[in-house]
Parts: sequence; structure tokens; C-alpha cells
Amino acid sequence: MESQAQFLRVLRGLDGKPYSGYKAIKGEYQLGFYGLFIDYVQSDPFAPPTRIRARVPMDLLRLTADEISSLEQKIATEDFLTRRLVAALTELGAKRRGSGRSGSILIANPGQVVLARSSIKISPDSIEVRMSIGLPANGRRIRAKDAEAMLLEDLPFLFDLAFSRSNFPFDELSAHTTLYIDQCALRTSLAESDLIAFIGDGAVLARRNGVSDLPMDEAMAVHFQSPVSLRVTQKLPSGRTVSGMGIKKGVTLIVGGGFHGKSTLLHAIEFGIYNHVKGDGREWCITDSQAVKIRAEDGRRVSRVDISGFINHLPRGRSTTAFSTQDASGSTSQSAAIVEAMELGATVLLMDEDTCATNFMIRDARMQMLIMKEKEPITPFVDRVRELYEQFGVSTILVIGGSGDYLDAADVVINLDEYRPYDFTEKAKQVSKQLPVSRKKEVTAPLNPIHSRYPRSPDLRHRLERIEAKAFPTLHVGEEFADLGALEQMVDEGQLRAMAALMRFALDSYVNGSTPLRTVVEQSILQVLKNGFESISAFEGCSGFYALPRALELGMAWNRLRSLMIR
Ligand code: ADP
Ligand code: MG
Repeated sequence: MESQAQFLRVLRGLDGKPYSGYKAIKGEYQLGFYGLFIDYVQSDPFAPPTRIRARVPMDLLRLTADEISSLEQKIATEDFLTRRLVAALTELGAKRRGSGRSGSILIANPGQVVLARSSIKISPDSIEVRMSIGLPANGRRIRAKDAEAMLLEDLPFLFDLAFSRSNFPFDELSAHTTLYIDQCALRTSLAESDLIAFIGDGAVLARRNGVSDLPMDEAMAVHFQSPVSLRVTQKLPSGRTVSGMGIKKGVTLIVGGGFHGKSTLLHAIEFGIYNHVKGDGREWCITDSQAVKIRAEDGRRVSRVDISGFINHLPRGRSTTAFSTQDASGSTSQSAAIVEAMELGATVLLMDEDTCATNFMIRDARMQMLIMKEKEPITPFVDRVRELYEQFGVSTILVIGGSGDYLDAADVVINLDEYRPYDFTEKAKQVSKQLPVSRKKEVTAPLNPIHSRYPRSPDLRHRLERIEAKAFPTLHVGEEFADLGALEQMVDEGQLRAMAALMRFALDSYVNGSTPLRTVVEQSILQVLKNGFESISAFEGCSGFYALPRALELGMAWNRLRSLMIR
């Protein structure tokens, strides 16, 4: 590590020189109280910014070992410190120091959920901040004085503002961590009570508008209140007790008139795989960590998936036990999504009629009469949904407004009426009895066991360097790109960035034709949890802009790469 004096000598010597001269400051320096690692220097004021890490001594904040001993504490604390830093940066205000990105300081900005991130890494003796900065320029000439002010004044000021013990809100940190730990514990305890989802009483599920993740105004939102018959109470590690609606394993229907809040409830369940921050309204919406949103996605690619349980005898004798296509239909894409999710370990399927293929969901009595079974390749989901639970232990939560044929399959029916939930299970049973369905069950054989697929990628390997996360939700792989728009449970651009890095990492380590896809993705995630994001970073140091996806989404991303081969 070099001294501040050495750093200044080099930097000052660069003043007025062409921008590429900045390359000379790549390295490690002790600048005042913090250590600066300049890992990558941008080539131009307009190019992707310079990547740095700043190591701030723990002396400044003095977190104790037992505040950061568990992985959960660490994730919550690192998230909190990231948010502190973002707030401090806002306070500091943007300082433009010349052309292009000159003077900009960039830090990952977490949204409504707490995720494992690379922006901050806490260790017993330091807080490492990973960020990007725009080194200042006049046109394309170096402005050394401004660079000096950024690194020797702005950054120390920022760290002091965010982390200094003297004005640090320790009570807020403690509340943040306690909430996170309670949420994790609730998720674990659901499983022990045979529950797959929990919606807390008082929750605000509705969002401000269709593109915002922020809660609807308190005054406008109808706060969630569980029907008495579905209410469960859970005691949490902090000592607090929460009550709310528990959804049991099995088949659950969410019914109700249009615009009565069905999709909003399902969304809350979808995102209950994450822990939301205080004030979000969904703090106590907690879902089984292996719950997956399933939807139709025509146009996607599918590689060697056994969809024969849902679709067989396609025209021209096309295989459905190892079904491949570069352009799936609504029904084939939805079948593949279910089988792939189960292969990756999903235990709960979440579906909204709005985004499902109708012919996949249902075939009614009249259609059965009009089109003979022999001419219809699809076994509708309604004939499989119970089997999935009874034979595979996979539960389904389904929003349905249009097809009463599902009533027979349901364990629980929740009716939403003016955004309020009612337990309609008994009523639904009466209806089933009163008005039996005249359609025939179309199952001819049981679902095949789910088998593993083994990815390999001779073709991808030479394009390793070019897996990139560009515009959310698209992953660029060399010339091709994978549209991940159907991965509805991704919440952060950082997850996409991390996916690109995780895929590159896995190509080197696991994608060899003899490791099952599920192992590939689970090992990749484990790698980050054990050894940090820096262990998958393709660059020296570590980008500050990664956020951890689930193994499930990572697997779904692999499944959407057009050039991936499956043995
Ligand atoms: P559905 O799927 O039943 O047609 P949505 O879930 O799409 O209905 O909700 C319809 C509208 O009502 C949306 O604009 C949503 O924001 C709003 N909404 C949903 N739940 C609530 C609630 N609990 N309080 C207030 N508004 C809500
Ligand atoms: Mg809807």
C-alpha cells in the first residue's frame, strides 16, 4: 500500500495530461484514515466509470463482534450501511467536476427489499465500500485538483457522515436487523407449521401505481385483515408476535370480481420471498423461499424439458419428453416453466389467470365434446394440480376469476371483495356439490418423475467475457441476448448483474455436462454466501453493484440462454 504523499505526487503530475494518463493511479493507497483501492480506471470521461473500493477502519463506527456474527446480521447491517451511504451522498449533493461523468459518485441504491449485496463488506476491523466514481476531466484532459478534492475531501466526508459513531443511529440499525431476523425466522417457522405463505394483519399490499414499488397512501389503502378461520399467530425471536392469514400447503384459490385486489394479493405473496424494509407495508408478507411465479411466455426457448405430463402427441410426432424449441407457445412455455421450476427445487407455484395460457389452464365440457381428446395435446392444469401436491409435494396458489372448474381441486378458497379477504372454502364446496362439472378428467397417465438436466456450453465458453447485464431485464451474451422479463420475482438490477457474473463463474467451474443444472445454480449461490461477491467477480476487486438472486431465478436465466446445450 502506498502513502498519500506518493499518491499525490503521481496524481498532481497528471494535471492537464490526456485522460488515459489516469491509468497511472491504479493501485492501493492509504489516504488519511481510509484505504483506497483503485481497481479499474475508466478510459474516457464518458466511458463506464472508475471502480474503487474504500476501506474504512471499524474504529469509526465500532460495531461489536456480536452485532455482526451471523450471516443474517451481516446482510441486514450491510444493507443498512448502504442506505446510510446513499442518504449521505444525497446530503453531500452532486458535484459536477467537468465533462462526462466527472465528479460523479455512484453507490448501489437498495429499494424496498433487503438483499445480500456487494456494496458494503463488513469485517471485524473494517467497512469496505465498493463504488464507482467519475474521474474529473476538462474535455478529455485530466483535472488533477478536482480528483484530489474528490478522493481526499468528498469521500472522507461521506464516510464520516455515514458511519461516524458520534451521529450514527444505532437504534435504527438495531430495529432494521431485528426486523430482518424476525422475517427470516417467520419464513422458517412457516414450513414447520405446514404453511407456505403468511400475510400479516394490517399489511398494505397495494402499491402507489403500476410502476412503483412504494406503498399506496395509507389513507387510500385497505389494510389487510385475515379472515378469522385462516388467522394464525406466530411468535418471533425478538419476542414480538404477529398475526395474519396463513396459507397452508395444498391448492389455494384466490377468487373475486375484477379489480377487487386478487393480483395485488398474489404479488404480495410473490415478493414475500424477500424481506421488506420498515414502512413498505409488506414487512409481514412472508412466503416460502421456494415459491415461483409461473406464467405463459410465448417466444421463449426451451431445451430438452419433459413436458409430456401436460402436452403429448404434438403434430408430426414431435417429442414432448425432451421438448425443445426456440419459439415456445403459451401452453408449451407454461408447461416447461412448471417442470423447470420443479427441477430447480420449487415447492410452491404461483399463478395468475391473467398471465396464464387459457388452453393450458382449462378445457371445458363443450370443448371436450367439440375437439376429441386425441386431437388435443394438452392435459389441462386443472387435471394435474392436485397430483402435483399429492405426488410431488408442490403446492399451488392460483388467482382465478373465470373458471369454476378449479373449485373441485381446491383445499382453500379465498374471496376478495373490495380488497377484503373472506374464507369461501365452505361456500365453494357447496357450489361444487350443487353444480357438478360435466367435463371429464383427461389424465391418461401419471406425471413422470422430474429428472435432472445437465448443461454444457462449448459454444458459450469463448464468449465468457461478454456476458453482461445491460438494460434490465436483458442479459447479453456475446451477440445474443436473453430476455428475463418473465422472471417476475427479480426486484433489483443488481440481481441481473450478479447473474451475469455468476454465470461466468459457473461456466468455469460447473457447467461441464455432468453437473445437474440445480447443482450448478445452488453451488454458484453458495459460493457467494461463503466467499463473498469478490469470489465471482470477473475483475480485480469487486463491483459494488451486485445483489444476490435466488438459485431459482439463476436457473431460470440459464434456461433462457439460447445457446445453452443440455446433455
Ligand atoms: P384484480 O386482480 O382482482 O383485478 P388488482 O389486484 O389488479 O385486482 O387490483 C385492482 C386495483 O385495486 C389496483 O389498482 C390496485 O392497486 C388496487 N388495490 C388492490 N388492493 C388494494 C387495497 N388493499 N387497497 C386499495 N387499493 C387496492
Ligand atoms: Mg388481476
